[in-house]
Amino acid sequence: MSKQKKINTSSSYTGGLVAYACHDTQSAGRRFDESHPTYRNEYQRDRDRIIHSAAFRRLEYKTQVFVNHEGDLFRTRLTHSLEVAQIARSIARELNLHEDLTEAIALAHDLGHTPFGHAGQTALNNCMKDFGGFEHNIQSLRVVDKLEQKYAEFDGLNLTFEAREGLLKHCSISNAKKLGDVGQRFLNKTQSSLEAQLTDFSDETAYNNHDIDDGIRYGLISIDDLLKIKLFRTQYDIVNKKYPGLDDKKLIHEIIRRMINVMVVDLIDTSRDNIAKASLKTIDDVRNQKQYIMAFSDDMHEQKLELKQFLRRNLYQHYRVHRMTKKAADVIDALFNAFMEDKNILPTEAIEHCNTLKEKHGDNGTARGISDYIAGMTDRYAIVEYERIFNPRQLSFSSLLS
Ligand code: MG
Repeated sequence: MSKQKKINTSSSYTGGLVAYACHDTQSAGRRFDESHPTYRNEYQRDRDRIIHSAAFRRLEYKTQVFVNHEGDLFRTRLTHSLEVAQIARSIARELNLHEDLTEAIALAHDLGHTPFGHAGQTALNNCMKDFGGFEHNIQSLRVVDKLEQKYAEFDGLNLTFEAREGLLKHCSISNAKKLGDVGQRFLNKTQSSLEAQLTDFSDETAYNNHDIDDGIRYGLISIDDLLKIKLFRTQYDIVNKKYPGLDDKKLIHEIIRRMINVMVVDLIDTSRDNIAKASLKTIDDVRNQKQYIMAFSDDMHEQKLELKQFLRRNLYQHYRVHRMTKKAADVIDALFNAFMEDKNILPTEAIEHCNTLKEKHGDNGTARGISDYIAGMTDRYAIVEYERIFNPRQLSFSSLLS
């Protein structure tokens, strides 16, 4: 790895940043030195590279809870990432933090996810348990540091340190030791930037709310069930009083948009208080805190936990979701084992990738190459690949072509 290069550029963000924000002109730099963009700041360049990446395009066909082909209206990882970016940018703008960096982190935060959402990640992690495991945060970093292959002078997207560190929400100590600069904060127990912290909150605010919407649409949870949840009930009462007799579709949307809003407002107000109490002056002050500066109030935190528990019990643990996730896990498992047994059935590019990793890391390298190939698949690609390999009816040569 080349040494991180400090950035010195004339094109900088003009949004009036607070002193303890990430300033693009003071970035800790990129792994490989580059000339500065002409009319963009460095974090804009990060964001633009993410949007133009193949991994970002694949998010369109990856899911979180529901499998992609089940309906056109369900969230995908792509729409989820856009919703996270929208929420995160609003918060960053209000707190005078760096909006472009925030957007870059939000758009890239799920790039390392496997097909079939959480089920896929659990299955791939099981497959990889003897080869270093699989963790989507670390895979997101692998995507932007190594796996995207489009630039002549380096592998990956060569993002700034601040964008890269924002992708690592959590990390084990053993993994942190292998990650160099971005793993350091897990070892010395310091914090990420406020831009990274707020994106973390925006992520859960987005999925808690859109999973309600998708869960109702899929018929797995009902408005009556949700009325037991304070966060939902409070907004339901407000909407019902203001617009009695509203049809369910509009009612749900009016409730969810208000739920997102009260969570965002609470987060901004509470975090602003924390900023004042901590007398933040520089980004080092942010990093040296014992815990996150960004936070919900105690009351909102409790309400959010109640909602999360509700979703876990009633949506994520629903037998129909379990059936989907079981099938998904079986697909991942079968593909991994088939490739491990005979890597010659992998596409040429994937074989070459495995061979390169094997030279450096032995069998762990081969497994990591296969894991990279599977993690990069969309839901539908994984299903097609499974069919190609295991369906005996697909024996004609043309059906084997990818
Ligand atoms: Mg996410």
